[in-house]
Parts: sequence; structure tokens; C-alpha cells
Amino acid sequence: MLTCDTCETWTQFLQFVKSRCSATAFGNWLAPINVLESTSEGIKLEIPNIFVKEYLLSNYKQDLCAFLPVNADGEPAIEFIVTQSKKTVIHTAPAPIETVELTTSSYEVKLNQNYRFDNFIEGPTNQFVKSAAFGVAARPGQSYNPLFIHGGVGLGKTHLLHSIGHYVRENFKKLRVQCITTEAFINDLVDSLRNKSIDRMKKYYRSDIDVLLVDDIQFLQNRLNFEEEFCNMFEALINQGKQIVITSDKPPSQLKLSERMIARMEWGLVAHVGVPELETRVAIIQHKAQQKGLIIPNNVAFFIAEHIYNNVRQLEGAVNRLSAHCRLLNTQITEELVEKTLREMLQQTPRQRISVEQILKSVAAVFQVRVSDLRGSVRTKEVALPRQVAMYLAGKLINESLQMLGDSFNRTHSTILHAIKNIEKKMAEGDEILKKQIHMVERNIGN
Ligand code: ADP
Ligand code: MG
Repeated sequence: MLTCDTCETWTQFLQFVKSRCSATAFGNWLAPINVLESTSEGIKLEIPNIFVKEYLLSNYKQDLCAFLPVNADGEPAIEFIVTQSKKTVIHTAPAPIETVELTTSSYEVKLNQNYRFDNFIEGPTNQFVKSAAFGVAARPGQSYNPLFIHGGVGLGKTHLLHSIGHYVRENFKKLRVQCITTEAFINDLVDSLRNKSIDRMKKYYRSDIDVLLVDDIQFLQNRLNFEEEFCNMFEALINQGKQIVITSDKPPSQLKLSERMIARMEWGLVAHVGVPELETRVAIIQHKAQQKGLIIPNNVAFFIAEHIYNNVRQLEGAVNRLSAHCRLLNTQITEELVEKTLREMLQQTPRQRISVEQILKSVAAVFQVRVSDLRGSVRTKEVALPRQVAMYLAGKLINESLQMLGDSFNRTHSTILHAIKNIEKKMAEGDEILKKQIHMVERNIGN
């Protein structure tokens, strides 16, 4: 029977979730849940479909444990009852099924007007992915399919995805482009399940689209049921020669998805968006400033680019803040002003840039080996350890990608990564001599 305590905590849980998720997500996932029974031992919930259970447990398990009684296994004590189809009719407003015309998804993402190929600044670390994106836009369904774009946060994945969308819409008027986020896809699916338009949705996604742009596929991880539905849609589209482009924060092999899904995503071309190097960052700053009608002196642009190095969105934020500041105070932009305005955004205190050469010299002096040996391929212990120390320090002190550091050592990025991990491990294990040596090397750099 209903005891008010548990019922109350359920209401509190709902309030808690409401403050944390979007109104759409709340409407889709939480609002349809009914409390059937509630005792001090547990709660019985009526849910419209099994996905709601999955959503709750995969997103809010810990919170559910905090709010509701838990069972002997430490799991939230909830019994889920899926609504019988007859009951659903009672919940649904009169006849939405026949009248809803699913010509377009309600969750479709509007393409950002600024995200165009013209506005995308190229450099060595993103040239390849940009050409791939352009190739797909110029010949949808006929070049690489799918195109899988991956890379870190704020490096232009969504920008490229939308650029493809704009290009296709402008150059192939008859082709239907749909851009979705993975979260929206899942919401769409749940919505359709709720108002029984799932077949219509399946038909829409499988046959009414020519180019499907999917942002942030990593959100499909740990969503088994959705993954299968996505995979089916994916195959249906590809088999009809429809173009799919996917973005992700990781390469396919590192996503926690089924082998089937990973294999599908590797069918076409997998392209990486890297961190732009210094010159490209300067060009991006200048480009963004120009768009805002702001003139930033070159030395200042370099100054910003040297301090904000792994996220283009932050570069953009810096330009915006400067622009606002200059408008307000009507002042000239100088390094000093930049430092003052952007202090908390800048990623390191200004100092001399350290080079790999300086690190090698210092390591050679402390470990009594030759720089040429450190650069060479001899693998004796006397050389191998200091070489790894040099790689470790390069990783720690130089703000470049592992790829670039690898190039300076004539090694691959995975060798650098291995070296960093190995030295970190030795230090964590308490190798005091090594710690002292590394400390000395650091003090000696640049002398
Ligand atoms: P992601 O999706 O990879 O997290 P976004 O595509 O949202 O990143 O990019 C973040 C911001 O940085 C956007 O405003 C985008 O226009 C800008 N940006 C990223 N890379 C570039 C680039 N190479 N040239 C111009 N602007 C860029
Ligand atoms: Mg994005």
C-alpha cells in the first residue's frame, strides 16, 4: 500500500532530476512514470516501455539508491511494470496517432549558420578531416560511407558536421539532410514508442533521409536497446547508398559499443580532428576577431594562442571576452590588457617555451650520456631510461600533441605515451633516485 514516506521521496527524486535534465528529457522519461505501490521496502513503478527502466538505471542509479530503499544487493528496490497497451490509450490524448504526421523529427538540430567550410581554418592537424568532410559533401553517398569524425572537445567536429549539411542543402536541393544529436535520436525513439508511431519513425529514418548527420555518438554507449535500433537504421540507410556522417569524442574501437556497431562505423573512413598547432591557432584567433570587427595585433594573437592551446571553443571565448572589454572601455588591445582580462582562461603562466632540444641537453648532462645517443636507437639500459625521462618531460613541459612530440624524437606517439606511463609508474612506486634526477633535469633546462 502507499506509504507516504517513499512516495514523498519519489517526488523529491523527481524534483532532483528535473533540476538536472532538459525539459524534453524530463517529459519523455520521467513524467510518464506512475507510482503503483510504495512501501518502506520498495516501490512499484508503471512505465510506458522498457527503455524508461534502462534510462533510469543507466543515468540515475546512484541517485535512486540515495532517495529510495535499496535491496540486499545494494540495488534500488524498484519493481518496474510496463504499461499494458490498453492502459496506454487512457494516458494518451485523443487520436494523436492518426493526426501526427512525422514528416520531420521534432528533435532535428538546426544547422548553425556559422558552421561552414569557409569559416573552418585549416592546419596540419585538421586538413585531412576537412578534406574528407568536403569529399562527402561534394559526393554524398558516393565517397566514404560512413565518415566517422573523432577528436577532443571543442576542436570543430560539430562545425564540420554542419558544414557538410549546409553544403549539401545548397548544392543538392533535392537531397534531404537530417542532423541529429544522439541524445535527440534516443528521445525521438522513446517518443515514438510512447505514442505508438514507432513504425512511422522507423520508416522516416530509414527511407526519408538522404544524408544523416549524427553528432556525439558516444552517448549511445551503455544504451543496449537503442544501439540495436540505431544499428538497424544505419544498415538500412547505408544499403540504400544514403550518406551517414558520425562524430564522436573517441575512435570507434574505444567506444563501449557492440562489435557489430563498431565494425559498421569502421566501414567507411575514420578521420581524426587534432589539436591545432600554434600557427593555426593564431589564424583562428585572427579569423574570429575579424568576424567581430576586432583588430588584434599579431603579438597579442600569438600570446593568446600560446596560452590557450587545446580547445578552439576557448580561443573563441577569449576573443569574445576581449571584444566586449574593448567595446566597453574603448581601449587598445595589448598583451597586458589580455593578461588582465583573460587571466583565469590562460592555461599556463607566461614563460619561455621549452624545446625538446633543451630537454635532451639537460637529460644528457644529468645522466651522463650523449644527446646523439638519446636521439638514436641504442636500447641499452644506460640510454633507454634517460631517453624515457626526456620523453616524459617533453610530455609534461611542452604543449604539443604526442604526435608532434613523437616526430621530434623520431618515434611514434605510442612510444612517447609508453615512456610517460613508465616513468610515472616508477615515480609512483617511490623511485627516489629517479625523482631526484628528474628534478635536477628540470632545474637545469635552459641553462
Ligand atoms: P566539437 O564539436 O569538436 O566539440 P565545435 O565544432 O562545437 O567542437 O567547435 C567549437 C567552436 O570552435 C565552434 O564555435 C567552432 O566554430 C570553432 N572551431 C573549431 N575548430 C575550428 C576551426 N578549425 N576553424 C574555425 N573555427 C573552429
Ligand atoms: Mg560537438
